[in-house]
Amino acid sequence: MAASDPRSPTPTAALAPYTEGLAAGELRTTRCSACGTVQFPPRTACPHCSRIGTGEWVTASGRGTVWSFCVFHKAYLPPPAPQPPYTVAVVRLDEGSKLVTTVIDTDDLRIGMAVEAVFSDDDGEPRVRFRPAPAGREHPPTS
Ligand SMILES: [Zn+2]
Repeated sequence: MAASDPRSPTPTAALAPYTEGLAAGELRTTRCSACGTVQFPPRTACPHCSRIGTGEWVTASGRGTVWSFCVFHKAYLPPPAPQPPYTVAVVRLDEGSKLVTTVIDTDDLRIGMAVEAVFSDDDGEPRVRFRPAPAGREHPPTS
């Protein structure tokens, strides 16, 4: 990916474990070392217990639940960015944090649907998207 690609923020040292995880096919997030609250992106203090520091990086399961979504019918960027119609969702990971992401294979997507991470590097940039999980996968209640 060119450094000027408007689809991705400039990589920073603070997000290096996340981008390295994508390249390895892992979805990484941070967890507070005091109370265990999982959050992404990393923050300078825990939103639950106020402990200062970003916490430790952990590998998430890659499973979650659709918390909200919308379908875009307008192209905001040229290919290889997603072209309309495409779906952007807030996915609540099973570990508890929420992630804004693109969802593929969305024919019957609905809030509360179980989804799973899909990793790709189609354009040389490792990315994560989500797709509906196979039928029958249980998911925890959302809040
Ligand atoms: Zn905490």
